[in-house]
Amino acid sequence: MAPRLSRLAGVACECFALPQENYPKPILISGAGKCWLCKAQSTSVKIATTIREAKTDRMESSSCAAESENSLQGWKEMTKLQVMKFGGTSVGDASCIARAAHIIARGAKQCRCVAVVSAMSGVTNRLIGAAKSAQAGHAKEAAAVMDALQKLHESVLDSLVKSEEERERVRQKIEAVLAEGRRFCEGTALLRELSPRTMDAISSLGERLCAPLVAAAVKELGLQSEAIEATELIVTDAFHGGAEPEMDWTRGKSHARLLPLLERGIVPVVTGFLGATTEGELTTLGRGGSDYSATILGAALNADEVIIWTDVDGILTADPRLVAEAQTIPEISFREAAELAYFGAKVLHPKTLRPVVLAAIPVWIRNSFAPDKPGTKITPEGHSRRGGVKALTAIQDVTLISVGGPGIVGLPDVVGRTFSTTAEVRANVLLISQSSSQNDICFSVSSGDAQRTVEALRKEFAQDLAHQKVEHVTADPHIAIVAVVGQNMRGTPGVAGKTFNAMGKDGVNIIAIAQGSSESNISFVIEEKSVVPALRSLHREFGLQNSSD
Ligand code: ADP
Ligand code: ASP
Ligand code: MG
Repeated sequence: MAPRLSRLAGVACECFALPQENYPKPILISGAGKCWLCKAQSTSVKIATTIREAKTDRMESSSCAAESENSLQGWKEMTKLQVMKFGGTSVGDASCIARAAHIIARGAKQCRCVAVVSAMSGVTNRLIGAAKSAQAGHAKEAAAVMDALQKLHESVLDSLVKSEEERERVRQKIEAVLAEGRRFCEGTALLRELSPRTMDAISSLGERLCAPLVAAAVKELGLQSEAIEATELIVTDAFHGGAEPEMDWTRGKSHARLLPLLERGIVPVVTGFLGATTEGELTTLGRGGSDYSATILGAALNADEVIIWTDVDGILTADPRLVAEAQTIPEISFREAAELAYFGAKVLHPKTLRPVVLAAIPVWIRNSFAPDKPGTKITPEGHSRRGGVKALTAIQDVTLISVGGPGIVGLPDVVGRTFSTTAEVRANVLLISQSSSQNDICFSVSSGDAQRTVEALRKEFAQDLAHQKVEHVTADPHIAIVAVVGQNMRGTPGVAGKTFNAMGKDGVNIIAIAQGSSESNISFVIEEKSVVPALRSLHREFGLQNSSD
């Protein structure tokens, strides 16, 4: 296996490789620089293709005082490492940022802490609006958004930071980031063209504006802190607007950049939502992706825990905006939380748990407005609840796509071709259902993915549509998916019966149904307008108002 070194060259010392015991990929074990454990100067650059080789190599070298089993032990006994992420509302104005800074400072006094921040609430939407105005040729409207954002961030800066020198430093940073934004918008308006790459560059400005403010607020509390752009840490593929991390690269970069800071007692404040390709091109992880940034960094740094600070008390039995009686769930399993996130519980980005599941790193969801409340702990096993159903969720921004017609009965490759097409356009398929007569396959995708999916399917089945083997490829955007979630639903008879009985009683029409064999989720498609009555009815039916046990 050829080690990919060039971009990692300069990573300080082989001690960084030590915590990666079960990491199978090639890793850099040493490089020019100082060892942060033993402070010895190391000048050699070595590469190990396996951890075994790394360890052997380390044991044979005698130049570094930390190179003994003790150093490994010492590493393990070092203080805890926490990654904490603050969402848009948790950094929504100067007082929220001050509150977030106190939470960070409290954490940093007890353990090593890396903060990850979203843009101030509403800022990403405004940036996307500016990009679209520019695309339509309205350069002035886009420039007005940049001006308004400059005012907003500067006024927050003025109320947060007392030191004139620090204020000036951060003000210059804000100006530089917005100058980039203005140039991107001018270019877009000139060409009337908005590529996904430019959209990423514009939509991620909010995080780049927010991180310096949060770092400055932490410094106000007497701690050392540094704002860091995640382009320096998170390496992704080039799928703009929904990039995926390359964990081996990310691990190397995050260790090299963050561990020396933590060692010196500096709190890194990292921009959420964004990363960069190996070529250094900025990418974003998808809307709401700062949660994902936090767990990517948590996994990369082998953190002890990740805390997602948000505006609710934890994961609730349903979205509290839709079901007033929803209760906070004290503990929930990775599987249940992932199902909820996947099916629209906005409190977690759908991919949040992927990076931490293997390493079993616990994730907390806590309320930054009520930091003394315990929140929800997401753990490998969770906490079982009698009756099986733990929570409900719904996704409203979805489209039901159907491929069908009597001609597809018995056509063996229709299913395969349908889903290889959705995979090619990277559509996120949320639910699949097929009629028993096999003349209709329907599945739902996020509405953002719908147009390109339907276009790709029509292209794929063009011949079949012409010869009427396939009669239609249609899309219905006015639907929603409701999911009933709980890992103990497995083997609990009657959950499906109760679910559909309640829907029948309350007059909710069911369009399609799916239940995986894991039995931890029953999901079904209904009309969008029925979401709230459906959730309230099910919440009552399963007695979830009594579930904070
Ligand atoms: P942040 O800005 O902190 O990332 P989000 O707005 O993305 O916060 O997510 C928090 C919101 O998620 C809550 O305000 C709540 O309305 C919504 N939400 C949806 N489903 C749930 C659920 N099951 N539990 C808690 N919150 C939920
Ligand atoms: N600011 C980004 C968004 O609004 C990312 C995030 O908040 O998680 O989508
Ligand atoms: Mg969010």
